[in-house]
Amino acid sequence: MHYKSPIILFGLAVSLVFTPATADELPDLGDISSTVLTPLQEKAIAEQILREVATSDEVVQDAEVTDYIQSLGQKLVEKGPDNRQKFTFFVVQDNSINAFAMPGGVIGVHTGLMLAANSESELASVLGHEIGHVTQRHLARMLASQKYDTFKNIAGIALALLVARANPDLASGALTTASAVGVQNQLDYTREYEREADRIGLQILEAGGFDVRAMPAFFNTLLRGTRFVDGSAPSFLRTHPLTTDRIADVANRVDQLPYKQVQDSKEFHMVRAKLRANSGAVQTMIDLFEQNIREGRYADEAAEHYGLAIAYLRKNALPQAEKELAWLKKNAAKHPMIENAAARLAVAKNNPQQAAQQYQAALKLFPDNRALIYGYAEHFLATKQADQAVKLTKLKQDTYPDDAYLYDLMARAYTMQGKDLLSHQAQGEAYYRRYHLERAIEQMDLAAKAKDGDFYQQSIVEARLKQLRQMVTEEKKTGFF
Ligand SMILES: [Zn+2]
Repeated sequence: MHYKSPIILFGLAVSLVFTPATADELPDLGDISSTVLTPLQEKAIAEQILREVATSDEVVQDAEVTDYIQSLGQKLVEKGPDNRQKFTFFVVQDNSINAFAMPGGVIGVHTGLMLAANSESELASVLGHEIGHVTQRHLARMLASQKYDTFKNIAGIALALLVARANPDLASGALTTASAVGVQNQLDYTREYEREADRIGLQILEAGGFDVRAMPAFFNTLLRGTRFVDGSAPSFLRTHPLTTDRIADVANRVDQLPYKQVQDSKEFHMVRAKLRANSGAVQTMIDLFEQNIREGRYADEAAEHYGLAIAYLRKNALPQAEKELAWLKKNAAKHPMIENAAARLAVAKNNPQQAAQQYQAALKLFPDNRALIYGYAEHFLATKQADQAVKLTKLKQDTYPDDAYLYDLMARAYTMQGKDLLSHQAQGEAYYRRYHLERAIEQMDLAAKAKDGDFYQQSIVEARLKQLRQMVTEEKKTGFF
């Protein structure tokens, strides 16, 4: 199920949802969040959502972008009140200014918000706020108070929210019944929840070493934004109502904190440049980058040249891309994103030798960089060096044991080698890491039936198959499946 079909997704979810319980069946409001959603159930919902996220066309499936937001988010989470909760951050390709939290610590950020932030601290202030909603279990409480008393209903509405929050205009346009619109409106955060999320967000921001003044500053960015888009509020303001009380409250708190000059990370500028380069009409973006460089209008000169290089790569204007990368090589500090762009240029130039040299040298400097690992493995596959691809992916699995795409690459390499058991096994492990248990079992079953494994490989696959089937049995107990 992709975001491409939000209408169907919302329709499905809504049909699950409208069976309100009678008042006497409702649990006590005080401890509602723990009685209605058990941690196991919340985990099941989160995995369902993560399965959508892993395969959605509207989620930015770019390791450099994802790793940036995940590491920024994680840095903040570590300063939060609940560091046992697992968090997953991802980026949605959407120009509107929005961010949203889902049950199980799943937090989505729109590209529009990342580009609207004037500093990394502003972006961090939004993440901190969303982390606050999660640690205070606001969503679970709201879902619980909506009279949807069964877990299945809550799971359904949580999924609907994924679409509704990601794109409220689309979702509400797709809704035909008044009650469905009502659900969406009822799930906007209350003022108390907003205040609490602001308070937690501010604490996290300060503890993480960011500029606390970024939070009121971003409120102003949001308010300015409302004047740009035909008077309609940015989506973020619809789900997180911004009142004058709220602004005053945050401003007061911030006034009591010491002033701190904080520098944005290099990645903040580089990732934003990449997002800009990959959005809109490519020539428009090229013109914009060039104009910014000419007029000195940038926060980070190297990032501007990098963005221009990416835009040229996107246009397949290779000599121009090469010129920008040469500038970066001469003037900018070594950075994995620049190294990766240089390798991509070599691939685009159809120069496998240069690409291999570039990937090898870059990985020496940045051995844990996922985009470089992916690129090098893809290079091995494209040049039919299956043995090398297997060797590299196996080696890097020590660092990234939960990485689904590394298993995809490995499966492709085994297929190329004609190894049936190992290929299906790797595909199964890839599905498992995308929370797709059924398909993982299918593949593991094919691996068990393959005739080309040795005794040792055969027993590993059979044990794993048994384990996966056991997991399905366990999940059924949550009442969700
Ligand atoms: Zn909020």
